[in-house]
Amino acid sequence: MIQRTLETLSFDNTYARLPQAFYARLNPTPFSAPPYVVHANPVAAGLVDLDPEQLTRPEFAELFGGNALAPGMEPLAMLYSGHQFGVYVPQLGDGRAILLGEATNERGERWDLHLKGAGMTPFSRDGDGRAVLRSTIREYLCCAAMQGLGIATTQALCLVGSDDKVYREQVETGAMLVRMAPSHVRFGTFEVFYYRKQHEHLRTLADYVIDQHFPHLRDVSEKYAKFFTEVVERTARLIAQWQAVGWAHGVLNTDNMSILGLTMDYGPYGFMDDYDAGFICNHSDHNGRYAFNQQPYIGLWNLSCLAQALLPLSEKEALKAGLEGYQSLFDQEYQTRMRAKFGLVERQTEDDELIRDFLGLLQGSHADYTIVFRELSTFSSAEGTVNETLREHFLNRDRFDEWALRYRDRLRSEQSHDDERRDRMNRVNPKYVLRNYLAQVAIEKAQNKDFSEIDRLFTLLQDPFKDQLGMEAYALPPPNWGKHLAVSCSS
Ligand code: AMP
Ligand code: MG
Repeated sequence: MIQRTLETLSFDNTYARLPQAFYARLNPTPFSAPPYVVHANPVAAGLVDLDPEQLTRPEFAELFGGNALAPGMEPLAMLYSGHQFGVYVPQLGDGRAILLGEATNERGERWDLHLKGAGMTPFSRDGDGRAVLRSTIREYLCCAAMQGLGIATTQALCLVGSDDKVYREQVETGAMLVRMAPSHVRFGTFEVFYYRKQHEHLRTLADYVIDQHFPHLRDVSEKYAKFFTEVVERTARLIAQWQAVGWAHGVLNTDNMSILGLTMDYGPYGFMDDYDAGFICNHSDHNGRYAFNQQPYIGLWNLSCLAQALLPLSEKEALKAGLEGYQSLFDQEYQTRMRAKFGLVERQTEDDELIRDFLGLLQGSHADYTIVFRELSTFSSAEGTVNETLREHFLNRDRFDEWALRYRDRLRSEQSHDDERRDRMNRVNPKYVLRNYLAQVAIEKAQNKDFSEIDRLFTLLQDPFKDQLGMEAYALPPPNWGKHLAVSCSS
């Protein structure tokens, strides 16, 4: 097994070999105050064969605080555009992030090291190129949480702070985050060349992405349509997972949609506390365009933008067919996930209704999504049991009792064993999620230079399905102050 140092990281920067129109080359702009590591992720380090001992070297903070470069890095800011809240914006691009390089590992995988908060770039528009400690902690922890939940995501290698001030609604502390992904190409990376009528660049980009990430499609006929169909599949699967775990992204613009179907660009996201289908986690989303229950539809809308951008490369009908597959793929994936949350193994026609009615009960009772599903695993299907602890979560007990009878019959119809079912359910219904208030506590401590809570949450969320000793408090509903915290786009 290779263990690399910061000096011997291995780079192969394929994006830097693409036409110059795809990016702007530039180095990160360091903070003026010295950078310090707030937290570093040894698992992510392992993805690029980096020896975990490297994470504590002063050079690590220098490198990922934007003060230095490692041999072989070729920093650049990527160009893209996208539809923001339904409106096409002709140029976005990495306004505060820099692709430092593509580190390769022993298995031949390539990982982008992307430094967020690295200063102004030609794509910064009115922004200052910076990120704040608050938002980078939220991103850092949510990457770990998603990874722990088994949901595809960009990863975070480390979080580096500085005493530099950054101005948002108030004065905040600056920070940088190293994001890792096999690719940071977005739907908007395709859109920019389509709308600029640079169809040669569009083809180059599509060929590049296929070559790097969909190699089985390199030489097939109708490869662009087939590539699109795979993006549809990945996107449908991803959003179904978000829906099942009760997570909202908050800013599902096409520039925040990964071509690999990864959760990316964490901003005002939220795990639901009380179940509310119309949950809007982004305080600035006044019309609820990106409300929780809109996400499946927005996924389709965003994919239709991508299809549009691919029109110069493919027959319209083939792209349309790909798009038309979205709904059934989503439904299938969502139902599979939800059935598992109820511990159901077989697929029966009444399941949809059983699931919908349960969600309706949760909504009417303002019941906590994560807690109730976790508790559902204790459901006893024995004759005459009232399932009292579970029942207490519901305001309308009669309606719960009616539902419980249906659920019991449904479980019996597939000879479900309570004990086995409980174990099965506890492997898909997390005990711990990154509730907004938990992140908030970690942020407030970190703003006073106490990073212990970040570490605690990081460890906890890596294994969200297992009961963890002494961590009961982290599985409770939020305290009153921690409900409905306003999280805006400002980051
Ligand atoms: P977001 O909504 O965070 O995905 O960002 C949308 C666009 O604004 C992207 O092009 C970002 O790079 C850019 N952006 C966001 N914040 C800043 C900032 N503080 N400085 C420069 N550009 C930014
Ligand atoms: Mg973005």
